[in-house]
Amino acid sequence: MNSFDPSAISVRSAHFIGGEYVETRGPTLDVARPSDAEVYASLPLGDESLVAHAVENAEHAWRRSGWATMAPRERARILRRFADLVAADAATLAPLEALGSTRSVRDAFAWDVPYSAEGIRFYAEFADKIGGQVAATDHGHLGMTIAEPYGVIGAIAPWNFPLVMASWKIAPALAAGNAVVLKPSEMTPFSVLRLAELAIEAGVPAGIFNVVQGDGRTTGDALVRHPLIGKVTFTGSTRTGAAIMAACAHSGTKPVTLELGGKSPQIVFADAPRIDDVASRIAKAVTTNAGQVCVAGTRLIVERGIAEQLAERIERIFGGLTAGATWSPHATLSPIVSNGQAQRIDAIVRAALDAGARARCGGARAEADAAGAYYAPTIIEGVTSESVAVREEIFGPVLTLQTFDSEEEGLALASHADYGLAAGVHTADIGRAMRFVRKLEAGTVWVNRYGRSNDFIIPTGGYKRSGIGKDLGKEAYEANLRFKSVLIDVDG
Ligand code: NAD
Repeated sequence: MNSFDPSAISVRSAHFIGGEYVETRGPTLDVARPSDAEVYASLPLGDESLVAHAVENAEHAWRRSGWATMAPRERARILRRFADLVAADAATLAPLEALGSTRSVRDAFAWDVPYSAEGIRFYAEFADKIGGQVAATDHGHLGMTIAEPYGVIGAIAPWNFPLVMASWKIAPALAAGNAVVLKPSEMTPFSVLRLAELAIEAGVPAGIFNVVQGDGRTTGDALVRHPLIGKVTFTGSTRTGAAIMAACAHSGTKPVTLELGGKSPQIVFADAPRIDDVASRIAKAVTTNAGQVCVAGTRLIVERGIAEQLAERIERIFGGLTAGATWSPHATLSPIVSNGQAQRIDAIVRAALDAGARARCGGARAEADAAGAYYAPTIIEGVTSESVAVREEIFGPVLTLQTFDSEEEGLALASHADYGLAAGVHTADIGRAMRFVRKLEAGTVWVNRYGRSNDFIIPTGGYKRSGIGKDLGKEAYEANLRFKSVLIDVDG
C-alpha cells in the first residue's frame, strides 16, 4: 500500500482498560498529524485515579485470569495467534500508524506491522521454552531457580516507532506471564489501541494488556510510581529516563529497563568494500524516519583519503530524497514529528554553523507536499568534537563529518563522552573491525552493515547514558521475570 486518504480514517480517542475502551472527561490534549500539522483528535489525559484504576484492574486480572499460571504452551499459543492477527491486520494498522506518526504508510506496511507481529511471535516461542533451572548442589541437596513474572509491568513508549517500540515492550512481558499497562507517547497514542483490541481477539484475558493515555508528567509519572507496578520498562530520551529512574527509586526501588538516546558514529576506512554501498548505508542510517531513530548513525568519521568521494555520494543520495506526507506515494523522506522539534533541529544546525562549521548540503527546512515540518538532509563539515552538532542527539536528518588519518585518531573521534548506543565500522580488515568492536563503548556495533533486520535474538540496549538493560533477545524475556532460588535438603 503506497497511499491513503487521511480524512477517511477516524480514531477512537480513549484508554483501553479491562478489555474495553474507557472514555474519560477532564483535560484533553490536541493531537496533530506530523505530515500536515492538522489536529485530528483530542486525547484524554489520564490522571492519577485513572492510572490507579488501570493498574489495580490489571493486577486483579493477573491474579484471577490464570494468565500467569496457565500452561506456558497455552500462553504461547494465544500469543502466536496475537502475532498472526497483527500481521493479518496490516490494511488497518499501517494507515493508522502512518496517519499519526512519521512512518510512511509504505514502510509501515512493509516493515513496522510485520516486524511488530514477528517480535510478538518471537517471544511467544519463549513462553514454554525458557524458565528456571535445576542443579545438584552438595550431596543430598538440590537447588533450583523458579522463573516468576513480576505481576504488572508499567511500559512507557516514545513516538518515533509507535507500534514497534510498544511491541518490544509488551511481547516479552506478556510471554513471561505478566500483565502490562502501556502508556504510549501523547504524540502517537492511537495505533497501539488496535494492538490491544487484537490481543483480546487472540484470547489474551481482559485486563492483561491495557493502554492509558496522557502526557509524561502526570500519566507517565503516576504509572511509574504506582505501588502495584512490579517493574518499569521505558524507551525515550536520556533526560526522561533519569527522571523515571529516580521515580522508581523513590516508589519502592522498582527495577527498571531504560532504552535511551544515542549519537552513534559510523567509522569508514579507505578499504571499506564497495564505496557506493557504504554511501547508501550511511545515508539510510541518518535519513530513515528523517533521522528520528535512536540508533541513527549521525556522526560520519571517515579516513581522509576517501572522505570527499564518500561525502559526494552521500550528498547525491540526500539530493534524491523527496520530503512528503506519510500517505504520499512519492515521498521518500518523512516529516519531523512537530514544528517544535524541527525548530530544535534547526537551532542546533545554526549554532554549529555560527561556530564556524559549513553545511555541505541542507541546513534548512525542506519543501514538501503538505504543511507539516520537514527538514532537508544535511551534512555539516568542519566540526570538532566540541561542536554542539557532534555532542547533542539531534533526532533529525543531520550528519556531521569528521576525518582521521590513523586508527587511533578514528577511535578517539568515535568515542562519545555521554552516549554509547550503537556504532558502525566499515572496513575490509577483519582484525581492525574486531579491534573497534572491542574498544568502542557501545551497546551494538555493526560491521559492514547498519541497522536492524529480523535479528530478534540479538538484544539491543545502550552503554553509558544510552540506557540500562536490553530490549529484544533472550535478555528482554528474562528481564520480565524474577528468579526465586529454592534449596532443598533431599535427605532431610
Ligand atoms: P521522551 O523522553 O520525551 O518521551 C518518551 C515517553 O516518556 C513518552 O511516552 C512521554 O510521555 C513519557 N514521559 C515523559 N516524561 C515522563 C515522566 N516524567 N515520567 C514518566 N513518563 C514520562 O522521548 P520521545 O521524544 O518520545 O522519544 C525520542 C527519544 O527516545 C530519543 O532520545 C530517542 O533516542 C529515544 N529512543 C530510544 C530508543 C532505544 O531503543 N534506545 C528507541 C527509540 C527512541
